[in-house]
Amino acid sequence: MSDERNVLQDLQQIVGAEVAVAPDAVSLERHTRDNNICGRKDVGILALVYPRSTGQVSAVLRYCNERGIAVQPQGGLTGLAGGAVPVGPCVVLSLERMRAIKELDVEAGTITVEAGVVMEAVQKAADAAELFFPLDLGGRGSCQIGGNVATNAGGNRVLRYGMARDLVLGIEAVLADGTVIDALRKVIKNNTGYDLRQLFIGSEGTLGVITAVVLRLFPKPRSACTGICAVTDYAAVLDLLRRARSGFGAQLSAYEVMWPDFYQLATLDMGRKPPLPPGSGAYVLIETLGTDPQPDQERYETVIAEAIEAGIVTDAVIAQSQREAIELWALRDSPGEWSNSAHWPQLGFDVSVPTGEIGELAEEIRAELTARWPELIALFFGHVADGNLHVSVRMAGHSVPELDIENAVYGIVARHRGSISAEHGIGSLKIPFLHFSRSEAEIALMRAIKQTMDPKGILNPGKLFN
Ligand code: FAD
Ligand code: ZN
Repeated sequence: MSDERNVLQDLQQIVGAEVAVAPDAVSLERHTRDNNICGRKDVGILALVYPRSTGQVSAVLRYCNERGIAVQPQGGLTGLAGGAVPVGPCVVLSLERMRAIKELDVEAGTITVEAGVVMEAVQKAADAAELFFPLDLGGRGSCQIGGNVATNAGGNRVLRYGMARDLVLGIEAVLADGTVIDALRKVIKNNTGYDLRQLFIGSEGTLGVITAVVLRLFPKPRSACTGICAVTDYAAVLDLLRRARSGFGAQLSAYEVMWPDFYQLATLDMGRKPPLPPGSGAYVLIETLGTDPQPDQERYETVIAEAIEAGIVTDAVIAQSQREAIELWALRDSPGEWSNSAHWPQLGFDVSVPTGEIGELAEEIRAELTARWPELIALFFGHVADGNLHVSVRMAGHSVPELDIENAVYGIVARHRGSISAEHGIGSLKIPFLHFSRSEAEIALMRAIKQTMDPKGILNPGKLFN
């Protein structure tokens, strides 16, 4: 490892003193945490680098690779798995100044952006061109496209438009040794060998630094219908999903399920008037995005009315305005406000199994936690049409070790051959549990890829696997 002061001076020589700076108390606070964990500020940050171009990213990586200095890529720091939080001495590489929207191609339906562009800025740019960028999640105002792609973010509309992986047509990334991989293509079809862009997507900054991407855009929806339905149990959640799929076809864009304890917290406990009375077996928020407001709203009302007649839905509220739709979505997005509630601190889970097994999975997790630790309070919600369940365990007021709860939950997920992380990634927090979802052969292949692309292990060390 080079001398600490030399590293900063060298980097300043390479990219300028504006770009490579010494950490101070404020920047250390900011660059050693994500949305879930606070890391150690005395971890040994050698320099904070805010490159303005791919060339600067390349020069910094080449320098660090030659000297075996760890590099910590950072986006908007909204991650939930500790992936962007440094765990040892390193140079922090923040993409926040690479914020150019380079091109919007209406004919191709693409937008080409630098990695540091904030998700919401992409949504707005698309909207201004009468197009639609569907990736959306609670951290939209600060997470960056580079971070979204590096974590293969999901969110609320995966059911219709897919995850980040499905929305990236081209990518530019810099390898550990500074080599720039320019695959910024706008084509949908490209069968010319290995799909290298997919290597970087979801690799959590361990295989390369993403510097720009070409994203897919879609026609801007002309209508949006949103409502919430009460049902008695998970069997009814599945019946309603079948009806929503056949009744709405491709217009179905969100199917979000909230179990009763979640609904109680999101409404009464947080001072909100519940749109439907508490006490039902589950609440389902259904959204459709279409092309023709009046017939779309009529179809929406018909599908829900038929589900009520069939005894699947016991009660429902359909938004009559955009404001009412936003209020319904606020319930589902309420986890973003939990840090101000009694449900904090919490231990969050982001697991997936096939959709048909989610109800069983939730019951098994609840039964096991209650049997072993009756004092635990666990809330359940999720993107069930994607097979994705979020579980949140309140950590205040008891002394059950996190590790015991994690092993219990992940053991059940593994029995369903599910994934211990549907959306948020492994980061540093889930490394001990990777084996629940990945076989030894899979982990060995991942290690071999890492070894090939980053032989000195400088990129985001201590993440994904040790
Ligand atoms: P960071 O947190 O800065 O980094 C995340 C990881 O990506 C780190 O490993 C980092 O090293 C790496 N990275 C960042 N930028 C780059 C780059 N340019 N090149 C290489 N590696 C890079 N996620 C979902 O999937 N679905 C949700 O519904 C969802 N809801 C959320 C709601 C809230 C309120 C919040 C705060 C977060 C939510 N998330 C959700 C988490 C989500 O994954 C992250 O917020 C986001 O995708 C990460 O982007 P970021 O720019 O903040 O990345
Ligand atoms: Zn989610």
